Amino acid sequence: MKEIKFEHIRKFYGDTEVVKDLSFTVKEGERLILLGPSGCGKSTILRMIAGLEDITDGSLYMDGKKMNDVPSGHRNVAMVFQNYALYPHMTVKQNIIYGLKVHKLPKQEIQDRLDSVLDMLQLRGLEDRLPKELSGGQRQRVALARATVKRSNFFLLDEPLSNLDAQLRVSARKELVKIHEMFKQTIVYVTHDQIEAMTFADRIVLMYNGELQMIDTPTNVYHRPANIFTAKFIGSPPTNILEMDYNQGRIIIGQQSFELTEMWKRHIKKAQIENLVFGIRPEHVQLSKSPSQNGLKGEVKYIENQGDSYSVYLDLDGQEMIALSEDRHWHQGETAYLSPQLERIHLFNKETENSIGYPEELNETENNMEERGIYV
Ligand code: ADP
Ligand code: MG
Repeated sequence: MKEIKFEHIRKFYGDTEVVKDLSFTVKEGERLILLGPSGCGKSTILRMIAGLEDITDGSLYMDGKKMNDVPSGHRNVAMVFQNYALYPHMTVKQNIIYGLKVHKLPKQEIQDRLDSVLDMLQLRGLEDRLPKELSGGQRQRVALARATVKRSNFFLLDEPLSNLDAQLRVSARKELVKIHEMFKQTIVYVTHDQIEAMTFADRIVLMYNGELQMIDTPTNVYHRPANIFTAKFIGSPPTNILEMDYNQGRIIIGQQSFELTEMWKRHIKKAQIENLVFGIRPEHVQLSKSPSQNGLKGEVKYIENQGDSYSVYLDLDGQEMIALSEDRHWHQGETAYLSPQLERIHLFNKETENSIGYPEELNETENNMEERGIYV
């Protein structure tokens, strides 16, 4: 089984704990994305899998075997580093096959693997160039090629596309998917870019400050954030998070309030938590020029053009709320009426910042929607 299992893993640098009690399993053949802001411990986690970093505490299993003390060279991993780490004095071809020669593979096998990867990553004609004679995108493809020819069970990538421009990133992502479909490696892919995570991942591990925040499918990370951090990190513009009070089925924000549906009222009652924080994504707030039933009103403060829509920043009795609108006729200072889509709201426990979950009825619809491929 090409599975990777973290069991209560901790990592210290000196007195600083940079990975905190981490437990999760990467399934055989899956594309798992480690996502989180810079400094949250992603590279450290990847380097522990690769055997480039000691594990302070806990156990790492790969293929069912404990790997804590197994040297890097014996872990059946291939790794792509953020800065590519190509050998500057070697040609493209030499860079790609270096590892295979070290492992003394038969000549013909080396040639076959080289041919296949040169075609797949469109590197034909560049075999004899030095890295300094290549563009950023080409260097990145050489780094991918060098890792791919190893045909390792475990493929580790540390922000492999972050040095590329947006267009190249899209095509490189497609190449990666192709490689994965061909070799079905277990992939752990580090990025701080949520778009990359949403588009490439089977599942996402969201990290913050050395701690796992949520592990789930992109759909669930977006629609069912486990806590406030996840809700704010995923999505652009981020989820609106507002202070609120709850009273007899109504959410009170500042001087205004609106009524929840019966299923939410039942859910809150069942959860027995009334000290709540309100969350809603900008794309799930409807804006209008005329008063809406069961809605709120705010003052337009700022408008940002998103191309196909506008982010309208509103002041809601002293708190900020962003709403997406296709209408471009919004002006600073005018009054806007907004209605949150009630089946799209998120409620968090104010003390723990964790989600209080969702009414069962909603979860049923969400599951159906995912099966029908409506999201993402
Ligand atoms: P990320 O890849 O998510 O940006 P890293 O795993 O590189 O984060 O780093 C996690 C934390 O560990 C950071 O605070 C970083 O400063 C610290 N760190 C990383 N490497 C070392 C090291 N060799 N010595 C001391 N601290 C380190
Ligand atoms: Mg890093």
